[in-house]
Amino acid sequence: MAPMSQAVRVRFAPSPTGHLHVGGARTALFNWLYARHHGGRFILRIEDTDQARSTDDNLDAILDALRWLELDWDEGPPTPGYRQRERFDLYREHAQRLVAAGRAYYCACSREQLEAERAEAQARNETFRYSGRCRNLGLTSGALRLRIPEEGTTVVDDLIHGPVTFDHRQLDDWILVRSDGTPTYNFCVVVDDATMRISHVIRGNDHLSNTPKQVLCYEALEYPVPAMAHVSMILGPDRTRLSKRHGATSVQAYREQGILPEAMVNYLARLGWSSGDQEIFSRAELVERFDIKDVSSSGAIFDQTKLEWLNHAYIKTIDGGRLAALVSPFLAEAGLTPPADAARFVGMLDTLRERGKTLRELVEVGRFYFERPREYDPKAAAKLFTPAGVERLGALIERLGAVTPFASAALEALYREMAEALGLKLVDLAQLTRLAVTGGTASPPLFDVLALLGREETLARLRAARAAAAKTAG
Ligand code: GLU
Repeated sequence: MAPMSQAVRVRFAPSPTGHLHVGGARTALFNWLYARHHGGRFILRIEDTDQARSTDDNLDAILDALRWLELDWDEGPPTPGYRQRERFDLYREHAQRLVAAGRAYYCACSREQLEAERAEAQARNETFRYSGRCRNLGLTSGALRLRIPEEGTTVVDDLIHGPVTFDHRQLDDWILVRSDGTPTYNFCVVVDDATMRISHVIRGNDHLSNTPKQVLCYEALEYPVPAMAHVSMILGPDRTRLSKRHGATSVQAYREQGILPEAMVNYLARLGWSSGDQEIFSRAELVERFDIKDVSSSGAIFDQTKLEWLNHAYIKTIDGGRLAALVSPFLAEAGLTPPADAARFVGMLDTLRERGKTLRELVEVGRFYFERPREYDPKAAAKLFTPAGVERLGALIERLGAVTPFASAALEALYREMAEALGLKLVDLAQLTRLAVTGGTASPPLFDVLALLGREETLARLRAARAAAAKTAG
């Protein structure tokens, strides 16, 4: 085993101010893959210091989405101590340590004063930096600021972007604890990552600009700085950062569209990471191959068509029992009930796999299995529900009542024989039957459909169609 100092410990640190969106899910996945690849620990920390915007409902939704993606965490909620609001003592303790070491100082500048300075800087077209007015006043209350070196640079040796240099003259003595005693976001992140002994911080690129501030804080606290990897943003088709403007962005929305969790994981993994030209990866392959060095430094475009292509690839190949379990909630939502016989249900789904790219589409194209036709396609009915059609339906009812076994091959043989005897093409008899049992003109192979519906159900539907046809035919 690796010594403690080298053990991989990574974290995903969502803020429960909204649901889990695809960018966050990908960050979680990359951390999870990195931990699993290295036999390390994946920690879930909840960044809920923004008490006004953080809600328990959002937290539940985030945990639910992570569970759906099967990104299991080794440490985190519900174990206490992994939510920032439970860690205020720790932040206070660290703040005191910085004061005692002279690495932080209190600042009594009023909000108005700072606002005025900010406005002046803006008027000069400069970024506002705190003047350092209270730096050497030895105050004992107010907001607590980190004393950063006036000269020099901080280099963030990012695992994805390489070294990124920040000039200290671009930074200022930032606030660690506000005058009301609440710790600031960047300070909490540093204290948490340090005390949780995080070895690698893998997070969104939008946090790169916070990183030099955080690094200076680690140094002031005399903690080792973790390795850093900033993953580029996910972009919409117009190459701007993916947002609600581009449509669905929450993991929950994709789940509701009928995307499989395995397809979502596969798709997210490939958003910015690659291993040769391969597109489809099992979870085990992802764990085996994932490496930060193969994560791209440029933004990746979210491509709904590709996600659906991948989803379809999974629908076509996953185990039937698993597919049945995944489709069931969508059936229930549509008010439909699968057959009690699990093998029959799987058989039905097997005939639908090619025909739907999402679980929702499977339900739509397979709806006829689970409910009798409420109406018949009017154009087809006009053509097929004729007096001759009524007669043929009668003949079918009689013969299908007796054919054994009620299975695809025997049914096909019967249809061929009947078509010949009636002087019809097989397809004519098949279309009439398809309209009668499904209500439409397109379905999976007819004899499989009849076999899966079973004799009783098929006969019931043919009788109902005959009655409807008799009316149409007058
Ligand atoms: N809570 C931050 C976010 O949701 C993550 C901060 C971090 O990973 O350091 O964007």
